[in-house]
Parts: sequence; structure tokens; C-alpha cells
Amino acid sequence: QETDIAEMLEDVADRFSFQIRQKRISIGTIVRRDISTAWLDRDQIDQVLGNLVSNALKYTPEGGSIEIEAGHNSEGMLEISVRDSGIGIPKKDIERIFERFYRVDKARSRNMGGTGLGLSIAREIVKAHGGAISLQSELNKGSKVTFTLPLKTQRRDGA
Ligand code: ATP
Ligand code: MG
Repeated sequence: QETDIAEMLEDVADRFSFQIRQKRISIGTIVRRDISTAWLDRDQIDQVLGNLVSNALKYTPEGGSIEIEAGHNSEGMLEISVRDSGIGIPKKDIERIFERFYRVDKARSRNMGGTGLGLSIAREIVKAHGGAISLQSELNKGSKVTFTLPLKTQRRDGA
């Protein structure tokens, strides 16, 4: 359905407001000027965003920050990213991170809860919608997961 992108990003932040407050995380949403609304499968994309924000929260220590940003990429696709200032992911694990049940070293994941499915589900959904998902991360600095969706968008500048 036609979705207001800014509202969708704020909604996902609201869904996690309890944990955000509890961990004193600062969260921001940015919608670049080149996009306002888009046609998308709201339930499914909400699940992708939820999985990514849930990870960002889980793997970011108290007092950190999370930023969710949306805009067009150079191919005219909708591009949404979730960036955090968390623990990051070692280089050797990055390429396997979207596999089902894959979790970075059990010691650090043990206390976190979870099954290692969030990212693989996110990738399934994004692929099913004709998009792509990728992750950039630096150990002890943070991570950024970016996904794209091909779609009909309306530009605020009317172009
Ligand atoms: P689930 O999502 O099923 O509750 P999970 O969060 O462990 O469990 P995924 O979301 O698939 O599973 O993530 C896989 C692994 O990737 C995590 O266990 C964690 O080690 C690492 N990871 C994912 N997102 C981040 C992030 N933002 N920062 C640091 N590590 C991350
Ligand atoms: Mg997860």
C-alpha cells in the first residue's frame, strides 16, 4: 500500500521505545528530500525494519546511537539503512551473517537471546520483493545494514 516513509520509520522506532529508553540509546530517523511516499508491502517491510532495529539495539551498548535513513539510491530504488554505534562484526563473519542460524561467536551471543534468524528472514523478504540487502561493519565501532527495494516513488520535488 502507499506508505509515508517518514511515518514508517518513526513507527518502527516507536515499537522499540521501551528498550531505547532503557538503554539510553539515541535514535534518529532521516528521510532524504528525494522521497516521501512509496508503494510497498507494509507488513513485510515492517518486519525487515523490526529485525534490523532489534539487532541494532541488541548489539549496541548503553548510551549508543541508532540512525534509520531512507532515500533513493543512484539506480532510483528506495534505499533504507539502519546504522548503529555498537559492537560491530569481525570481518571474517560478515560474509556469513545472512545465513540461517549464523551468529557471531557464541560467547558474545549467549546472553543476548535470539536464534540467528533475523537477518536471514530480512534477506528472504527483501529478495522476494526484488531488492538487495548488505551489511557494512567495523568491529567495536558499529554496523550499517542497507536494503533496497524497486518501486514506484513520488518525489517531493515533482521530478
Ligand atoms: P534473532 O534475530 O533470531 O533473534 P540474532 O539477532 O542472533 O537472533 P540475526 O539477527 O540473524 O540473529 O543476526 C545474526 C548475528 O549477526 C547475530 O547473532 C550477531 O552476532 C550479528 N549481528 C547482527 N546484527 C548486528 C549488529 N547490528 N551489530 C553487531 N552484530 C550484529
Ligand atoms: Mg536479530
